[in-house]
Amino acid sequence: MHVNGAAVSIGNLKSKIENSEVLTLADLAAWSRPGTSLAVLGHPIKHSISPAMHNAALAALAGHEPRFADWRYFRFEVHPDDLPQALDLLHARQFRGVNLTVPHKMIAFDRVAAIDPAAGPVGAVNTLLWEDHGWRGFNTDGYGLAAAVRETLALELAGIPIILLGAGGAARGAAVECLQRGCASLTIANRTPGNLTNLLASLALMAGGIPLQGFSPSEPPPDLPANALVINATSAGLRDTDPLPIALATLPRPTAVFDMIYNPPLTPLLRAAAALGVPHANGLGMLVHQGAKALEIWSGIPAGMSAPSMAAAAQMAMAGR
Ligand code: NDP
Repeated sequence: MHVNGAAVSIGNLKSKIENSEVLTLADLAAWSRPGTSLAVLGHPIKHSISPAMHNAALAALAGHEPRFADWRYFRFEVHPDDLPQALDLLHARQFRGVNLTVPHKMIAFDRVAAIDPAAGPVGAVNTLLWEDHGWRGFNTDGYGLAAAVRETLALELAGIPIILLGAGGAARGAAVECLQRGCASLTIANRTPGNLTNLLASLALMAGGIPLQGFSPSEPPPDLPANALVINATSAGLRDTDPLPIALATLPRPTAVFDMIYNPPLTPLLRAAAALGVPHANGLGMLVHQGAKALEIWSGIPAGMSAPSMAAAAQMAMAGR
């Protein structure tokens, strides 16, 4: 197997591991660490707080169960073109599990040996488990969303109307979770009509009897449901200069607003919710709970046990920014 770039010496790799540096494909080629290794792959990956969350949870678990003392979670910068090679190398090096973040979740879906049935309709995987014959792919984002909405807004996705903003990968995962949990209705808004049409078409069968419709965020129809949970799954709000994904005041009063974005912690959409006196929460809890579920898949330890240490680490990492 050929890996581009300069060869990495064992001493250099050891020092990078000890200093929690961003690792590369070349580091993976030279990998010789004993113990159980986990990884997150992304492009870019530098600012991911997943290593802080997972290593905090592993340290807490090791306090009760010595088998976790040699478990560590690493971050790898991997270009999408190199993802197949990275996955092969991680499997050959017997990494127990892998998390995938932007832009790898959909690419990896087509590259794994097996897919957890719940991840099938999402068409994307964020968690891989090592098995003899190859990687098994899971998607824990939907679980993370449902757990965070319950924890931060005291709401269940089942039985309530949902207004979902966005038609990208995160929106697809959220839509599948809302339908599978039996929301009362699902209404999706997206800037680009073609992407909205494609998403609605792919959800139609799964919706069954649940009302499913779409609209342009610039022209909300008059018959939108009142008391809906508004979920922002667009990336509008990541940058200061981004427009609002929707003018909240043009919707019937929502019961709450959940924004998947967590950096910045208070997006313009969440500020608008606050101004209207509507309960609101950002996406940090979703990140925590999807991570705790991934660790459950790798370790067998229930997600609820790891979530508190992951949440504390995530909050500390965000406070340090
Ligand atoms: P994608 O690139 O797949 O989709 C982006 C979506 O945002 C599209 O619907 C796009 O609309 C819309 N969009 C982008 N810019 C704008 C804009 N200026 N105005 C209106 N709409 C816009 O991204 P993902 O689905 O992967 O991620 C979406 C968001 O969810 C990101 O902010 C990501 O950080 C967050 N996320 C959070 C997670 C968590 O754990 N908290 C987990 C996963 C994602 P169009 O079709 O018109 O281009």
